Amino acid sequence: EINAMQAVQWIEKANEKFQENREYLTSLDRPIGDGDHGLNMSRGFKEAVKKLKAGNYSTPSDVFKDVAMTLISKVGGASGPLFGTAFLKMSVATAGQQVLNETAFVKGLEAALDGIKQRGKATTGEKTMVDVWQPVVAWLKDNGFATASLLVEAEKAMNTTKDMTATKGRAAYFKEKSAGHIDAGATSSYYLFAALAEVLG
Ligand code: ADP
Ligand code: MG
Ligand code: MG
Repeated sequence: EINAMQAVQWIEKANEKFQENREYLTSLDRPIGDGDHGLNMSRGFKEAVKKLKAGNYSTPSDVFKDVAMTLISKVGGASGPLFGTAFLKMSVATAGQQVLNETAFVKGLEAALDGIKQRGKATTGEKTMVDVWQPVVAWLKDNGFATASLLVEAEKAMNTTKDMTATKGRAAYFKEKSAGHIDAGATSSYYLFAALAEVLG
């Protein structure tokens, strides 16, 4: 189960990870991108936490909505609109519920995944954040929120992007040369799910 306070904690923990790993995320985006992913994520989530601290929330949906709006307005590049859309869809799918049980929360995550895929016109195997979101959400749906395993699944999914050749996003310009590098957005998605595992654990 997750309430508004835990939703806020999720974003706070994710923010800590994005601040701590800012340089690492940027180093992943440098060889097959434009080297700004760490900056994009750390700026976006810092602003999101600032916004949440100033608010007073009774539903996770309201939390997700403010996160979405902040990411969309404060983060340039692909990741702002993509993560923003994810949180917006999560907000809509969970609207009005003070507490999300596992089923309700998984519905929210499925809506988020659909939003990312639609917005990015992406599917699995294209070396993007979808390669973490899709297997992790499917795994949560089947297994529930067993948090230690959630972390393992997310990490495994992140690592599958290493050998993939990118066909979406900036990395696609590098064609076959994109293989051999872990995708930056898949890694930040891993941090997001790792933060979730900490809140639920
Ligand atoms: P930009 O590429 O605009 O500089 P970021 O560096 O912040 O934006 O984010 C790049 C990440 O966004 C990639 O590593 C990838 O995971 C994700 N991404 C890029 N394009 C798409 C897309 N069309 N669909 C899904 N994810 C994408
Ligand atoms: Mg970039
Ligand atoms: Mg950029």
